[in-house]
Amino acid sequence: MSLENGKCPCCNGALTLDSSKEKAVCRYCGHEIVIQQAVQKCIVDGIATFDTILLAAQQAIDYDRDYDLARKKYKEALNLSPNDYRVLWGLYTCEMGTLTVYLQTKGYVAQEGDLMQYVTEATQKYGERAKSNAPAEVQPYYFKVINENSTYFANQISSNKKSGCYVATCVYGSYTCPEVWTLRRYRDDVLGQTWYGRAFIRTYYAISPFAVKVFGRFNWFRNMFKKKLDRMVEALNNNGVDNTPYNDKNW
Ligand SMILES: [Zn+2]
Repeated sequence: MSLENGKCPCCNGALTLDSSKEKAVCRYCGHEIVIQQAVQKCIVDGIATFDTILLAAQQAIDYDRDYDLARKKYKEALNLSPNDYRVLWGLYTCEMGTLTVYLQTKGYVAQEGDLMQYVTEATQKYGERAKSNAPAEVQPYYFKVINENSTYFANQISSNKKSGCYVATCVYGSYTCPEVWTLRRYRDDVLGQTWYGRAFIRTYYAISPFAVKVFGRFNWFRNMFKKKLDRMVEALNNNGVDNTPYNDKNW
């Protein structure tokens, strides 16, 4: 198979070719291509507008991990060719990529229901449509990737579900005791109601699992927080926050 146009010989998708690498994997069909020097020039010089946009989208992902820019480019391409499976697959890749970055950096998912819905919608809107428009030889690859993604996100979301008040749980040794019930109630009823409160909670949840993992076995760590938390719990109880058993709210 030849690579004259800088396109994938299997599915005709534009390729991002990095001369420092020996191989390129086609983003649209999973086909592995050995890079030849001769190819590089052709791509830069002469491919049509649609392919140029496609290529720019891929480069945004491959070189910069910039899914917002890639999404913008793919949407441009979608205007030119609304049913092109490579464009649809690109958009699907952007949605899944954005979500992966979100999970990796935030570390905490506030609304697991919505998140799974987001995965499902993106899969139907882009992934499944790409699959049904793709050539027969590409379809099994899309089928596989869609299944892997759906499983991955379902697992990620359910493992996030039980992520309680890490520090408080570590300090008091339980997620279900009057002190932690008080704090959880305060988190949902008061903090969760304002945007800065929610921002605080997200930060707290992103940092505290790490802190507990690293320092949780040390007494000084628990003692340091226990004094602060005891005072806080006492103040909250005096101000009308109950310390009776509590089920977390979804916010
Ligand atoms: Zn391909």
